Amino acid sequence: MSRTGFSSQSAAASRILCAQFTLPLLARLAAASQCSVGTSSTSLNMTTPAQSPTRKKKPRRVNVRRPDVMTLVQGEVERHYRSSVVERIRESGGIYTVGTTTIRLAKQFGFCYGVERAIDLAYASRRVFPDSRIFLIGEIIHNQEVNHQLDRMNIRSLAWQELTDDYDQLTPDDVVIVPAFGAPTEFMDKIEERGCQVVDTTCGDVMSVWRRVRTYAKEGFTSIIHGKAGHEETRATASRALGDDGNGHYIVILNPAECDLVCDFIRHSGDPKAFMERFQNACSPGFDPNAHLKRIGVANQTTMLKSETEELQRRLQQAIVDRDGPEAAADHFRVFDTICGATQERQDALFDMLNRPMDLLLVVGGYNSSNTSHLVEIGQEHLPSFFIRNADCLRSLEEIVHFDLDRKEEVPAYTKKLAGEGPIVVGITAGASCPNNLIEATILKVLELRGEEIPADLLKAAEHNGIA
Ligand code: SF4
Repeated sequence: MSRTGFSSQSAAASRILCAQFTLPLLARLAAASQCSVGTSSTSLNMTTPAQSPTRKKKPRRVNVRRPDVMTLVQGEVERHYRSSVVERIRESGGIYTVGTTTIRLAKQFGFCYGVERAIDLAYASRRVFPDSRIFLIGEIIHNQEVNHQLDRMNIRSLAWQELTDDYDQLTPDDVVIVPAFGAPTEFMDKIEERGCQVVDTTCGDVMSVWRRVRTYAKEGFTSIIHGKAGHEETRATASRALGDDGNGHYIVILNPAECDLVCDFIRHSGDPKAFMERFQNACSPGFDPNAHLKRIGVANQTTMLKSETEELQRRLQQAIVDRDGPEAAADHFRVFDTICGATQERQDALFDMLNRPMDLLLVVGGYNSSNTSHLVEIGQEHLPSFFIRNADCLRSLEEIVHFDLDRKEEVPAYTKKLAGEGPIVVGITAGASCPNNLIEATILKVLELRGEEIPADLLKAAEHNGIA
């Protein structure tokens, strides 16, 4: 989901004024400067495609991590996303009882190191380039709150699903931020061709998956990627699975059912046409299941459910053994677990929390966040679990608006769990892209709905954050 480039009221006005022109984003920005309503502090000097460089240039990666800048950035990021309430509860071992309501926090949740780094670098980009136009490929992370904040800093989102005309209008004066998920190679080639200054926040864990699939391609193995074919990270990884010469192949499988289709084809072959119809949006160009499932290497999107990934690896390996025999299989099958440490820690912390009695679980995070949705799946197997984007989703003691993973939409749910007069335990966790201030608001909303009097220490902590 791509954000538009405007957020403030006056920017919204410019959108209305200029919306009559069906121009790409950058052209609208230029038009906005003439409409005299743009809020951008950036230079709006447009370079038309004809004036722009067309020659492919070397990447101009810029290091915005200057000590003086980072000191300021860290203070700013803390002010925006930190929570004294969460820290206070963590100090008490992650469990806090007020009246008849107990809040239990997972041991690990919220921002991971990759997300923290990406946000820091985005904030630093604005400080290092106060007057430049700064763009971001898609979203920095899957969290509306954070993305809106970048929007307010005039960091504008470009399409991530495809290369639009906006990319052709980037100039060497522009700064382009690559998000924590990375970006497909053709996007990187394009911003390099345009000569832009690149701030690359791609997480190191994602890059290690890229190294793996590139090696598969080099050694003639097809990458089987366990992931979501339309997810930013998986698209970026798939592009690297083509290898440096572009001749590599990949297929993305989402779940055990899709894995079994691939395993069936490995064992018994089958109708390639039907196979390709099933996986048409999840394969490399020219993929031929008869030719490209001979030697396979498994990798995964870093944020998948670990137990599922392991099961898929086992099934694929067994299919190769069944077809080729154990000896040959050793040469025809590679595997590399690419679940990142942060995802693993959050899943493990939830399993640990589930060992103790709880009445319901709230999982806070962006609805398009992969690692968050897996936390919800884990929770749902054990107790009533609700995937909420923020505290506003807790409408009343009986109504929780949440994201339904099957229907893939936000729906109201009705539960008596919060409403009971007796003691209740509410578990709370969050994905790697969720800031602590959203957790804090959720905790306070639960206590408020339950009619609990907020204790002085929490109140003080909340006041510190300017919430109470
Ligand atoms: S979830 Fe994992 S791969 Fe993604 S940014 Fe965080 S640490 Fe990196």
